[in-house]
Amino acid sequence: MNTIPEQYDTFADFADGKSARLARVGVRLEPAVAPDRLHIGLPDGQAVVWPIEDIRQLPDQADRAGLVLSADDDQVSRLFLHDEAVIKALRGLAQNLHQRKPVQNKFRLFKWAIAAVASVALIVMVLVPVMADQLARILPPEGEKALGDTTYENIRTALNETGIAPLKVCETPAGLAAMRKILTRLNPDDDLPYKIQVDILDHEMVNAFALPGGRIVFFRGLIEAAENPEEVAAVFAHEIGHVVNRDPTRDALRAAGSIGVLGLLFGDFAGGTLILFLANSLVNATYSQKAEAGADVYAHGLMSNAGLSPAALGTMFERLRAKHGDAEGLVAHFAAHPALSDRIEASISAAEGFESTGPVLTPEEWRDLRNICGTSHIIEGTGAPTPNTVRDGNGNGTKTGGQFGSGNKLLPAD
Ligand SMILES: [Zn+2]
Repeated sequence: MNTIPEQYDTFADFADGKSARLARVGVRLEPAVAPDRLHIGLPDGQAVVWPIEDIRQLPDQADRAGLVLSADDDQVSRLFLHDEAVIKALRGLAQNLHQRKPVQNKFRLFKWAIAAVASVALIVMVLVPVMADQLARILPPEGEKALGDTTYENIRTALNETGIAPLKVCETPAGLAAMRKILTRLNPDDDLPYKIQVDILDHEMVNAFALPGGRIVFFRGLIEAAENPEEVAAVFAHEIGHVVNRDPTRDALRAAGSIGVLGLLFGDFAGGTLILFLANSLVNATYSQKAEAGADVYAHGLMSNAGLSPAALGTMFERLRAKHGDAEGLVAHFAAHPALSDRIEASISAAEGFESTGPVLTPEEWRDLRNICGTSHIIEGTGAPTPNTVRDGNGNGTKTGGQFGSGNKLLPAD
């Protein structure tokens, strides 16, 4: 007959978590009279009582022969039991022996969650921009080029309104020859670790932007909005200025970094959304006023050296402001920004005393450039505004974007 003893007494080792030494303690288990607690008698005569339901077996048991225990209310103490009979009895009584410790303090967990969110916010808001600046400085030219090429394809895909094929590249041979002639005249090569590559995309948005690695993209809308090829040249020079100053690289790294962090947080949300987000941030790049002023100054110098009037940049800004100034809220906001007036004035001042060495394109070449997208948007003559730039009376004409109108959405409303 196997009767349960009324009382187990044994010795065990006890670590109180405060001293480094193990203490030899007496352990008493009384299944008959007090099955709800374990009595630990300390050497100094004091006693510790662990409620049986609070006793836990530590998950990592190095000492296979015995049992290492802790108690919920006593986070630091450890009891090293070796007596097989006591261990067996304890296993029968302590129902929670193998349960994980319950969360002690919900408020503490909440604080951890807040801290986690805060640290992610810190990464997105602070570290990523800082790292982007550092990375932009050390990224090799090939790395920038790869970043720019990838982004270019993403932008084409994102901008395509049908969602079937990437946005058409405009490349009539005569039009490309005219664009190349402008670039040759501007002659920025000395300033760049890579060759400038220019692409024209068939989109009505009045926009141009630079990508990392020397790629500059014009939309058809901007070429149509320009009144003469010198204005296209001025915008071109301004974008080259951004490339020289590595503004797009910094911006792309910043956007990509933020997206990467967001992706980690939320998973690959909606796939294309990420691409759209990155593309949008580059097409509508809003550089700091300092970066814009820097690109303007660079453009003034490049234009002057090429014998072209720096004032062309100002006239382009002025026309855009006049055309879109009161039409739409966001554009109006940008146009009303005092900095634009400053930039126009700066270009006029830069033109003082400059000597022209002739127009950048012949009238024929200018017509070729304006028709670079081929038959779908034939423009006759060489003069000013065409029917394409203002298409109806409801303020739904050509949109501005990017350097020339911040805050515009990627896809035109109409
Ligand atoms: Zn700019």
